Amino acid sequence: MTIHNISHFIEGFQRFQTKYFDGESKLYDKLSSGQKPTTLLIGCCDSRVDPALLLDCDPGDIFVIRNVANLVPPCNEAGNQQGVSAAIQYAIEALNVKRVIIMGHEKCGGIRALMQGYTPSPKLDFIGRWMTIVEPVKQQVLHQLVSCSSDEQNRACELGAIILSLNNLRSFPWVAEREARGELALHGWYFDMSNGALLAYSERSDTFLPMVCPLGIAHHQ
Ligand SMILES: [Zn+2]
Repeated sequence: MTIHNISHFIEGFQRFQTKYFDGESKLYDKLSSGQKPTTLLIGCCDSRVDPALLLDCDPGDIFVIRNVANLVPPCNEAGNQQGVSAAIQYAIEALNVKRVIIMGHEKCGGIRALMQGYTPSPKLDFIGRWMTIVEPVKQQVLHQLVSCSSDEQNRACELGAIILSLNNLRSFPWVAEREARGELALHGWYFDMSNGALLAYSERSDTFLPMVCPLGIAHHQ
């Protein structure tokens, strides 16, 4: 569905209003006094990967940060106005979430821009500067998968970027401390868009394993 008319959004809010403010649902009676999400989810801005839709969540379930290519920058006190780091700190310290999910996805435009090059405006290249976070992964992929197709290289970079972001999360002291005490779990997930499947990073095997298989395959395993 392609939405050309803003009335679609207004009608959408009316359906949301009916669902959560009319009749049985008392969810916002509870939520209006404060949020208590147990999960921080870091996802991509991409319109096809809305975390609440993908995971079928209600309001209040997940605290979400979305940015280009679902990246976590390394902890760096010197930088100014770091929205991602601020939101991570709020989720960890103020909301005391118990888990963080970094949710990457296939066919990510940010990763494609990094791998294939895309400079919308050389004078103000915010995308290029942001994506330098993943430059080490790009170099590794180009070195190791030199003869692979660009699709294969991009997928490897999408997966590698999730692992890099998990490591960058641990560079924030309050993340590392809570994880060491067993109070915080870190997860790397990958939405395989072509197949409608979900993969999860296994630290033990250092690879991404199927968590939800494509329809029609799951029943045969
Ligand atoms: Zn993306």
